[in-house]
Amino acid sequence: MRHARHGLPRAVLVAAVAALDAAGLAVLATAPVLASAPLGPSRRLYANGAVVVETPLAPRALLALLQAIEHDFGRVRRGRRWGARTLDLDLVLWSGGAWSDAALTIPHPAFRERAFVLGPAARIARDWRDPLTGLTLGQLRARLTRTTRAPSAARRRAR
Ligand code: ATP
Ligand code: CA
Ligand code: CA
Repeated sequence: MRHARHGLPRAVLVAAVAALDAAGLAVLATAPVLASAPLGPSRRLYANGAVVVETPLAPRALLALLQAIEHDFGRVRRGRRWGARTLDLDLVLWSGGAWSDAALTIPHPAFRERAFVLGPAARIARDWRDPLTGLTLGQLRARLTRTTRAPSAARRRAR
């Protein structure tokens, strides 16, 4: 959603990266912002980005920090997932492999099926590996592109 101070979603993401930096996370890489159609009930376009950050924080502490930043950007949790929102910050992968508790699962359970995550993320961390499938972000993105694209003439002929 548009933000009263920061403006369009793309500018909200730029401001969000600045907020991560201001919160003490070392932002090592920032992906270009990509637009995507909404997944759920919202009718707006989403702006999607990805960053690589370095922090001594444990996953739950990092999630709490990300949620505090979402709150600062005016996000109100009304219990409905995937509704229009000003900012959504998810943890996709981390250097510690698979990790989960009642409130947090890393890798993010849905990221392998989401072009809007893999698109930006593979731009900055192409060789990072998903600990569950053993595939890199680049490979996961290629796999997704292959399965969602309409069959090419060559592949139709091959059938
Ligand atoms: P989705 O998780 O499908 O992308 P969403 O981001 O819209 O949906 P939220 O309402 O932002 O969902 O988050 C719901 C809860 O998901 C959070 O309160 C958090 O505890 C939990 N969660 C579990 N795994 C993760 C993760 N890897 N990153 C962020 N939140 C997570
Ligand atoms: Ca999300
Ligand atoms: Ca989220």
